[in-house]
Amino acid sequence: MNSKKKSKIFILDTSAILSGKPINLDDAKMVTTPSISKELKPGGRDYQSFNILIERGLSIYTPSKESIDKVKNISIETGDSYRLSKADIEIIALALDIKNDENEAIILTDDYSIQNVAHVLNLKFETISQSGITKRFKWIGRCRGCGKKFKENIKICPICGAEIRTVISSKKDIE
Ligand SMILES: [Zn+2]
Repeated sequence: MNSKKKSKIFILDTSAILSGKPINLDDAKMVTTPSISKELKPGGRDYQSFNILIERGLSIYTPSKESIDKVKNISIETGDSYRLSKADIEIIALALDIKNDENEAIILTDDYSIQNVAHVLNLKFETISQSGITKRFKWIGRCRGCGKKFKENIKICPICGAEIRTVISSKKDIE
C-alpha cells in the first residue's frame, strides 16, 4: 500500500455533467473547463444540472497550452483527433495539469475517445452509468496487422511490424 494518500480530483466532461445524475464523490474535488460551461445554454435542464454541481463545489479551470498541445498530438497518433471536441481536449489537458505527487486526477466521462486518449496518457478515468459510477474499462493493445493482443502499452507489433491499437477488452465493476 502507498503510505502517502493522494487527494482525488474528478474532472467532469460534458457527458458527466449532462448525465443529470446525482454525483456523489465522497467529498472529492470536482473540476471542469470553461469550454464545457460555454456549451450549456442558460435556462434548460442541462444548465440546472450544471448549476447544482457548481453549488456542490464544481470549480472551473483553464488547462495549460502545453497540455492542450500534448493531448492534440497524442490524439492524432491514436486516431481520436477528429472525434474530440475542443471541450474534450481541454478535459484531458486539465487532467494532465492536475496529476502530480499530491493529486490523483480522474476523468469522469462516457466518451470512448476521451477514455482512449486518457489511457494512452496514463490518466485515470471512470464512467457514469445509470446507478452512478459502477464500471471501469480494461484496455489491451491489439495489432492492426496480425490481430495479436498485448497487455503492455506498445505501439508497434514485434511480430508483424504493424500499428497497435488500444481496445476495450472488458468492463469491470468498481469495488
Ligand atoms: Zn502484428
